[in-house]
Amino acid sequence: MSTALVWFRRDLRLADNPALAAALARHEQVIPVFVHAPAEEAPWPPGAAQRVWLHHSLAALDGTLRASGSRLLLRHGPSLAALRRLVAEAEASAVYWNRLYEPAVTARDRAIKQALRADGLEAESFNAALLAEPWTLQTRQAAPYRVYTPFARALRQLAIETPQPAPRRLPAVPGTLLSEPLDSLELLPRQPWDRALIAHWQPGENGAGQTLRRFLEQGLAGYREGRNLPGEPFVSRLSPHLHFGEIGPRQLWHAVQSRAAGAPATGLAAGAETFLDELIWREFAHHLLYHFPHTPEQPLDARFARFPWADNEGALAAWQRGRTGIPIVDAGMRELWQTGWMHNRVRMIVASFLTKNLLLPWQHGARWFWDTLLDADLANNTLGWQWTAGCGADAAPYFRIFNPVLQGARFDAQGRYVRRWVPELCRLPDRWLHQPWVAPAVELAAAGVKLGVDYPLPLADLAKTRARALAAYATLRELAPGR
Ligand code: FAD
Repeated sequence: MSTALVWFRRDLRLADNPALAAALARHEQVIPVFVHAPAEEAPWPPGAAQRVWLHHSLAALDGTLRASGSRLLLRHGPSLAALRRLVAEAEASAVYWNRLYEPAVTARDRAIKQALRADGLEAESFNAALLAEPWTLQTRQAAPYRVYTPFARALRQLAIETPQPAPRRLPAVPGTLLSEPLDSLELLPRQPWDRALIAHWQPGENGAGQTLRRFLEQGLAGYREGRNLPGEPFVSRLSPHLHFGEIGPRQLWHAVQSRAAGAPATGLAAGAETFLDELIWREFAHHLLYHFPHTPEQPLDARFARFPWADNEGALAAWQRGRTGIPIVDAGMRELWQTGWMHNRVRMIVASFLTKNLLLPWQHGARWFWDTLLDADLANNTLGWQWTAGCGADAAPYFRIFNPVLQGARFDAQGRYVRRWVPELCRLPDRWLHQPWVAPAVELAAAGVKLGVDYPLPLADLAKTRARALAAYATLRELAPGR
């Protein structure tokens, strides 16, 4: 009887999982295993919020596997040693997994594939995470893409494979093969701050499916316009599920298209097209990370290595805690702290405020997001921060500095978002909500707000800091664009 290990990593699902499907097609015995080896992902091991998600997602995967007759084995790394040990215990002849694209992980996986093959095993990897792997698309000059629009156009030419359904039954894992207890991975924090955070979510493949169904019914039709409104429920909130591979992009690609099929020129069709564009941003981010592996730490546009960033720990701490005195920025940072997620529009606003108004290095913001976001993803986070700071691919022009007051008035006109996350301002009229520092004293008093006491005075003068940022950015203009 031939046996294969399926090495689960961030593909924590049974449906549309090509490594699992290959193992089932080619072997009688299939052993699902997850190896805990965060140090191998250095300098970007999973942050605190991601570890919480991973804990619950592993429990969910084990539950789904058990419902199909199998179970998940948990082992401690190093990965190669753990896989070799299990190969010996299970007398396996093959190890299959789905690929990841972060620089440290790619290098590790390559070495593991070579080592297992040198042991005489079959070692094969598959694509579960992307519509187009980073080497699939290239420009006419045979170079990686650095601009989104032509990348998206090229991707849309591809036929996206239909996703495979989950297998109904899986072979039982022999009782002689032991799993480490989930708690021994120590993914949850000692102080139980995680409970409030995870209460907002349902990690695992079933939770991903439910989230998708809710989005198709309630979000998709209004997505094109509504996706910019942080106080409204139009976005999918699928990002942590996608990051952990509890659902894959092929599944989403086909699900939104079939939901919109037969409804041309409606909100559904427009929503589906816009949603596919967002999925393509995710693809673009992975393309960039793979081809420019230095970008989590360094700007893609090398001119920015000389940018005169400020150094201000107090300002950074105020930003992290949602105490900047700029309501929409504080609302976003508190949403992040309390739920492990932040709306995309607000991510752009808080990132612009940090890098342009406070002039703090984008890497500081990226690190904070890395630790606090449940969906922290090296490709998407790097793209988001470099794009906002103006130093990445297809970046916002340096002179585009979000004005958080105008952004708030435009995208949170009724103040639903700010009132939810900054409740100390909830009684201020809409007119002053996004800029309480200009509210007349009587209005502040009527709303029960003492600025500097109940809510901070603004940390930065928006007009002055905008001018300072423009001057700083101007120093780079004389330099040739860095490659
Ligand atoms: P939806 O609008 O429902 O979009 C569906 C999916 O498309 C998302 O789940 C995501 O996988 C992808 N997507 C959407 N927008 C983007 C985008 N701009 N770039 C890349 N992919 C996108 N996303 C992460 O997944 N992890 C991160 O660590 C991350 N860090 C970010 C940091 C900054 C500064 C910024 C500006 C954006 C960042 N994003 C990140 C992108 C985006 O904000 C989130 O993907 C999105 O808010 C997730 O919510 P959603 O699933 O409801 O999105």
